[in-house]
Amino acid sequence: MLYGAVETGGTKIICGVMDETGELLDILRFPTDTPEYSVEKIAGFFSNHNICAVGIGSFGPVDVNEASDTYGNILDTPKLQWRNYPFLQRLKSKMKIPMVIDTDVNCACIGETEYGAGKGFDNVIYITVGTGIGVGVVVNGRSLKGMLHPEGGHILLRRNPNDIYEGKCPYHKDCFEGLASGPALAGRVGRPAFELDEDNPVWDIEADYIAQAVSNYILTYSPEKIIIGGGVLEQEHLFPIIRNKVKEYLNGYIRTPQLEQIEDYIVPARLKGNQGLYGAYFLAKTLIQKG
Ligand code: ADP
Ligand code: ZN
Repeated sequence: MLYGAVETGGTKIICGVMDETGELLDILRFPTDTPEYSVEKIAGFFSNHNICAVGIGSFGPVDVNEASDTYGNILDTPKLQWRNYPFLQRLKSKMKIPMVIDTDVNCACIGETEYGAGKGFDNVIYITVGTGIGVGVVVNGRSLKGMLHPEGGHILLRRNPNDIYEGKCPYHKDCFEGLASGPALAGRVGRPAFELDEDNPVWDIEADYIAQAVSNYILTYSPEKIIIGGGVLEQEHLFPIIRNKVKEYLNGYIRTPQLEQIEDYIVPARLKGNQGLYGAYFLAKTLIQKG
């Protein structure tokens, strides 16, 4: 059997066709445009393949409650054309096969949990630090949803004493995303984040904010694995600084074998950019197996 997987982001949409073993047989990438155009492109691509279900990892906010009348609708997004757009319904009306939708970061977390750095664990956090910051949460083997879905990129942190940058989040200014996304780094130093040398003092501030957030997730979700990806974490030298600062913030309050072996606990993403697609694939496959 073949399965479809879709990952929609602010700038691009990726569609994949995978077989039972997870082999990626075909892939399409195109820039995110109007919702109707995007739906046409997605449905057009999948019409060339005999797929039995589609899983979607969508940018948020999105209604991920399967029992809701508006399941699969994009909610109050700044992308005006997508606001309140019944994305899942429109795709279903074109393709008439079972579909399932979750957030892009929950899908990324599911992908890493099933096939990547979180394999073998049931409670995993995935953090992406890129243009924005998103946090996916897997609890007891399933992505966490609730009133809406977790929005862990917007938690409030303690300001680093060496940081005077006002923050970039349009809603909260100096939340985690406002202080530590790629654009926040660029706003603080006046240059794109990828141009900065390893010894730039701004990395210490960046690692501090990521470590504070990770400490909060450890205290609230008690994950068995913490995976960090996204463009900014291409800077692998951040990992040892983050791990040391997490130990400092927790200050011995939590003592577990995982924290003793922290280099195996807080780890880079393994599915380099494809985690969302693999998570969406896993959801599609599970949907069929459930019957
Ligand atoms: P997106 O979040 O848009 O899906 P990315 O995860 O690639 O995409 O994140 C893009 C952000 O990451 C940009 O702000 C960019 O400056 C930053 N970035 C990309 N590569 C690097 C790098 N090697 N070092 C530091 N920052 C980077
Ligand atoms: Zn915010």
